[in-house]
Amino acid sequence: MNNRAVAGPEVERLIQLLAKLPGLGPRSARRAALHLIKKKDQLLIPLAQAMGVAVEHVTVCSTCGTVDTSDPCTICADTRRDGATVVVVEDVADLWALERAGALNCRYHVLGGTLSPLDGIGPDDLTINKLLERAAEGGVTEIVLAVNATVEGQTTAHYITDRLRGLDVKVTRLAHGVPVGGELDYLDEGTLAQALKARTAF
Ligand SMILES: [Zn+2]
Repeated sequence: MNNRAVAGPEVERLIQLLAKLPGLGPRSARRAALHLIKKKDQLLIPLAQAMGVAVEHVTVCSTCGTVDTSDPCTICADTRRDGATVVVVEDVADLWALERAGALNCRYHVLGGTLSPLDGIGPDDLTINKLLERAAEGGVTEIVLAVNATVEGQTTAHYITDRLRGLDVKVTRLAHGVPVGGELDYLDEGTLAQALKARTAF
């Protein structure tokens, strides 16, 4: 009895596709689908149109590897940005997060993942060679390795640093330490040890 469909296959398909989105399970996918259907004019039609436009125009920047609707992307084409500093990230989501922080007026390089021999991901599966090309072209004075503080992230950072050796480029990495608003008592020992080692003048 519970297997009876409550709506036609078109609606079921919408629910199934929405359920594949990160953060949406079957239950929230049903709620989202119902919301879209109820708000057909304000939401469902504009969303379908926006998706159609995205399908036609979204591309990967051949310089930095981010996704955008133009190649070179908005960031690479922006002449007001300081091209001397290139911030290296694992994923586009990290680029967007750093841009939201708005701390640097820099350019970026999206690796497309991390080195992971166990998963068969080597240097040629990432955009490391393109990064080396950018660094060798001149104009880049600092490369900031903004990779995750995971084993894979740090392995990748070490590998890139090795490959950049010999080029006249300063290689830096993000500070590891106490998060803004963080309480020392709640931090793990690894983070506390890093924060102590990387202490700065007050
Ligand atoms: Zn770009």
